[in-house]
Amino acid sequence: MKNYFKQYPDANGFFKEYGGAFLPPDLIEEMNRITDAYHSISKSHNFISELRSIRKHFQGRPTPVYFCQNLSAKYGGRIYLKREDLNHTGAHKLNHCMGEALLAKHLGKKKLIAETGAGQHGVALATAAAYFGLECEIHMGEVDIAKEHPNVVRMKILGATVVPVTHGLKTLKEAVDSAFGAYLKDTATTLYCIGSVVGPHPFPMMVRDFQRVVGIEAQAQFFEMTGEEPDHVVACVGGGSNAMGIFSGYIENKEVKLHGVEPGGISNKKGDHASTLTYGKPGVLHGFKSYLLQDEKGEPDPVYSVASGLDYPSVGPEHSMLKDMERVNYEVANDEETIDAFFELSRLEGIIPALESAHAVAYAMKLATKNPQKSILINLSGRGDKDLDFVVDTYGLPEDR
Ligand SMILES: *Cc1c(COP(=O)(O)O)cnc(C)c1O
Repeated sequence: MKNYFKQYPDANGFFKEYGGAFLPPDLIEEMNRITDAYHSISKSHNFISELRSIRKHFQGRPTPVYFCQNLSAKYGGRIYLKREDLNHTGAHKLNHCMGEALLAKHLGKKKLIAETGAGQHGVALATAAAYFGLECEIHMGEVDIAKEHPNVVRMKILGATVVPVTHGLKTLKEAVDSAFGAYLKDTATTLYCIGSVVGPHPFPMMVRDFQRVVGIEAQAQFFEMTGEEPDHVVACVGGGSNAMGIFSGYIENKEVKLHGVEPGGISNKKGDHASTLTYGKPGVLHGFKSYLLQDEKGEPDPVYSVASGLDYPSVGPEHSMLKDMERVNYEVANDEETIDAFFELSRLEGIIPALESAHAVAYAMKLATKNPQKSILINLSGRGDKDLDFVVDTYGLPEDR
């Protein structure tokens, strides 16, 4: 695994057989332009020092690594959290949104465009657009607009235009189609900003590179605290950006075991989960090849997760490669285990996790019980304020459970 980041992806954006850009020729040209610009601009002194300053003064980085004394005492092991919930806007997503927006500024673009499902990516991108004084257009399915009202309001307050998508199932997949269509009409002044390590090349690479700060910080902080590397590193996987962020700090060190946790939902029946790497097969969706939950015709399956940030039928192509290489172990946490972990971390440590992140905590708790001598570092990708109404309406307060 030496020189991992030089090897993957290759010049055409492939992680072994996964990734690439499966697109019409005019869009391939546009992707090539973004790739070239990214390679030259992201290495410039100006870009690096500006991003470094933004991370420190605007985002509040570095985020701390925290030892969970009470959780460890109850479940075993030594459990630590990388606190991405303390990153500005309450999740890791701003790490790549600020990078993408800074790239747009250096490219002389005027506008950022993206889709959003639950609205988390939309809010992070609207924040980045406000910071840089760029226009922002967020495409969102009508169903999600109704479900995620607070995030719609947040985006509007931050100055973004929210475009309702009214065709098909009116959720994330249609929002991606709509945003891409709008982007194609105006590639000269606009940059499309994807919300995870998915989509055509160069996005899986760029988003990973912007998230690497999480792994670089965590490795140094954990080592300073303990004098060693963690035995296990755990992160939830939707598209896979927060996981690639923390994994990248350890990927070249095979002694550290890496675990990606997928949303197991209600059951392993089709439509009841979004465990792409566990139950999917390779296929192409949204311009890239990766594991995909699909029917016999290659149409994406419906997906479900209690955490709306995790319900995507595909996954970042780098994760597909890491699964085949057996460098990362992919596991599932179901809704019930996730809700338990949500309440346990809140009560024992005073930290309310995002439901997405609670999947990682749930798996880590099981791992700790089985390996009481080992240390476990979890990427706590976000805070749970956004989930409180849903959790209490659906599962009640702890005293009612
Ligand atoms: C969006 C989101 C995720 C899932 O995205 P990845 O690209 O898989 O990291 C996880 N946690 C939180 C808090 C999110 O908002």
